[in-house]
Amino acid sequence: MRTRFTALATLLAASLLALPASAVEVSFQPVADGVYAYIGEIEGRSYDNEGLNANIGLVVTAAGAVLIDSGSSHQVAAKIHEAVRKVTTQPLKLVINTGDQDHRWLGNGYFAGLGIQTLAHADAKADMQARAGEQMDGLKVLRERLDGTRPTLPSRFVTTQDSTLDMGGTLIELRHRQGGHTPGDTLVWLPQKNVLFSGDVVYVDRVLGLHPVSRTKTWLDSFAVIEQIKPHTIVPGHGSVTNLTTAQAQTRDLLLALRTHMKKAVDEGMDISAAVKSFNGQPFAHLKHADVWLPQLANLTYLEMERE
Ligand SMILES: [Zn+2]
Repeated sequence: MRTRFTALATLLAASLLALPASAVEVSFQPVADGVYAYIGEIEGRSYDNEGLNANIGLVVTAAGAVLIDSGSSHQVAAKIHEAVRKVTTQPLKLVINTGDQDHRWLGNGYFAGLGIQTLAHADAKADMQARAGEQMDGLKVLRERLDGTRPTLPSRFVTTQDSTLDMGGTLIELRHRQGGHTPGDTLVWLPQKNVLFSGDVVYVDRVLGLHPVSRTKTWLDSFAVIEQIKPHTIVPGHGSVTNLTTAQAQTRDLLLALRTHMKKAVDEGMDISAAVKSFNGQPFAHLKHADVWLPQLANLTYLEMERE
């Protein structure tokens, strides 16, 4: 009996060991004619999702393919490239980094190694340089899946707040308003397709993230550009493909609520812990990670309002 039990246990252990570890699978879904998105999960960074807990975009033009964000690592970037090849035979010509958070640019080294141009707004540069080490540390959970990743600055920077790229007749407009989530946040607008890739200016389904480099004030300036554009379709930085109304409810309104509450608290001389405790996060409680993130957002916004 005992032997049989041991044998069974050994068999069970062996079969568990044989289970392949799960890894991120990148595939692009059509969003509009020639426009695709990979929608990443909205969990935190993990070994299984390889840090690609964010969305990536792809635009196929007559002058080659354009990738929007390079992913969280060298290995993830290679998977993204493979997924691009499944959608189009057009060679990848350009990678745009919509911000300076890890999953927007740490795959740059892979693409640069293939001679593919990488581009971001110049305001991203200092933050990329300053936080590359911190971002790599934050991805230690990827273990050997981070192997090969070398933080690589974009090969090209745009310096104006508005610019337009013409890729074989497909217009790609970049809009930058001093950043929000990160200093280099850039909107990618495709006027002929009526699609906007917002990068981390729009979060849906989950609560937005704030870091010490984030600025809610200029984040709202970036958001106002989306309201002027009124895109039919928004591919957010995180969460499912969405529209302006949902983006306003889940990103803009949260930023406004935080700023309004914290401005009043600072003006009235309320201390930070009382200000954080009295913030009403109820309208946003349904968003994923609200329990963990809302107090942190409240904290950082208080400090920002103090500085303003
Ligand atoms: Zn992000």
